[in-house]
Amino acid sequence: MPSVRIVYGSSLFTRIELIRKDDEMRETRMHCPRGHKEMAVKRAEKKMLFRGTHLSVPVEQYVCPECGTEAGTVEQTAGFQKSVADTYRKSAGLLTGKEIVESRKKLNMTQEDLAKKMSVGIASIKRWEGSRIQSRSMDHALRMALRGQSVGDSCTGNRIISIPRIKLVINEMETLLGRKLLKKNDKMLFAAKYLWYADMVAHRETGQSMTGATYAALPLGPQLNNYRDLIDDIIKVDVSAAESLSSEEKKILARLAMKFPREQMVYAAAHREPAWKNKPKGAIIPYTDSGELTAL
Ligand SMILES: [Zn+2]
Repeated sequence: MPSVRIVYGSSLFTRIELIRKDDEMRETRMHCPRGHKEMAVKRAEKKMLFRGTHLSVPVEQYVCPECGTEAGTVEQTAGFQKSVADTYRKSAGLLTGKEIVESRKKLNMTQEDLAKKMSVGIASIKRWEGSRIQSRSMDHALRMALRGQSVGDSCTGNRIISIPRIKLVINEMETLLGRKLLKKNDKMLFAAKYLWYADMVAHRETGQSMTGATYAALPLGPQLNNYRDLIDDIIKVDVSAAESLSSEEKKILARLAMKFPREQMVYAAAHREPAWKNKPKGAIIPYTDSGELTAL
């Protein structure tokens, strides 16, 4: 007999944790904790509210035919958590854990390869392939890495987008300018233009952007593509996760601060750039336009 630990009042459903070896598992018979007979394995859909979204999640658990008491093994509980995460990700338009694993294997990448390509730790990849939900910006980065986009990419300047680096560049500009660029509820009207010049000049002079960000030609100037999705992550990200700036990159940022000491100056200059002016509104500004910059 396996030892049985009964756990009542779990937030998901009543759990019975079976502590036993794997080979005993298949023959597991569960008896109702209320003294009824054997419980039966049932598959059902569980309706629940998760992160403000109504989900219908497939669940497998033991149910007592007599009193309806529900119980799950450790494996069933873990499977349910994964199922919640994937159902949520599907409804939110994010890659599911299964999709991440499948795409990665299709490219013959190990978890370590993917981690390296994205400049994140292997633990993050493991979590996202399991039941941890990635942020929207990391989802964007995952999709790019899984499309094999990192080398020679004209939308990202030959780098996978790094939110910590975006923050690091903004922090460095703030230090150089002596004031804040990002405020509460910021729409990045000015910060994005400093970033755009930093990335474009770095691409022109070093062959690689600083942040891997993609820019669009919006009516108010060059702007981080999908900035609305990125802004919250940028504000709260831990910059210590970013690869530090090279001396060449720091010099570029210092030149930017000299050239555009005030926000209105970077704003006006960006609006004079043919790389922005000649694009249909909403179009991506490719890094191959970095050679056309006129301000510096
Ligand atoms: Zn019962």
